[in-house]
Amino acid sequence: MSLTYDDGLNSQLDNVIPDLDALGLKATFFLTAENAEARLPDWTRAAEEGHEMADHTVSHPCKLRRYTAADFLSREIAPAEGFLAEAHDAGPHTFAYPCGMEALGPGSQWQGRARYLADLKPTFLAARSVDGSPNDPRRLLKSRFDLHAFEPTYDHDDPRLGFAYVERAIHAGAWAILVFHEVLPRRKGEGDTSIAVHRRILQWLVRQPVWCAPMRNVFQWVEARETGAPPAPFQSTQSLSFPPPSAKRGRNRVG
Ligand SMILES: [Zn+2]
Repeated sequence: MSLTYDDGLNSQLDNVIPDLDALGLKATFFLTAENAEARLPDWTRAAEEGHEMADHTVSHPCKLRRYTAADFLSREIAPAEGFLAEAHDAGPHTFAYPCGMEALGPGSQWQGRARYLADLKPTFLAARSVDGSPNDPRRLLKSRFDLHAFEPTYDHDDPRLGFAYVERAIHAGAWAILVFHEVLPRRKGEGDTSIAVHRRILQWLVRQPVWCAPMRNVFQWVEARETGAPPAPFQSTQSLSFPPPSAKRGRNRVG
């Protein structure tokens, strides 16, 4: 499973990373460059500690009909990639759709989706949405730009929906990706998680039979297994959860 935190928020630096570090967990942070740039040194330190810095555009646009593919690439994606490089995450990066919108520019949904994919495919390993059931590893290469995820505390500051979603993934042998936004001393509004509830989720997670790692690590590991390529180095430094089953050595080949 993967823990993901969106928008490059200060509360994630102050209230999430210390709790992850205390449990030896590594996570994915989808940075919006405009939010994150004021604390670039702190994000850089997090990247150097093994957390994944990932792309959530420069300005987090939610109304996308006015963009061409070229505009979106030059204004939102390329500069955000430059920002991630400054934060010492060399990539390849994963992407999260701002506001979960997966179509770009005018025309039909299908045209908008094709336009968005044309921007994403040359740059990103995979892209995450904000809903759907846990991801089936056997279908991952086909759905790499539509990875499902779940926001367990979006409506209620309660850990139980998160527990249920991860348990569903465990029973299905699937990959659960959880999404969080602000993590604050007290929930102030929709999408916020209190520090106490977030901590309860982490403390529960490390007792479950799951491998918890950043999205990039999990995706690359599954990709290597599915394509028979040599597996990427297993980078998790986490000691409290199970490592993934080792790749089938007999299938390893180059090309
Ligand atoms: Zn966002």
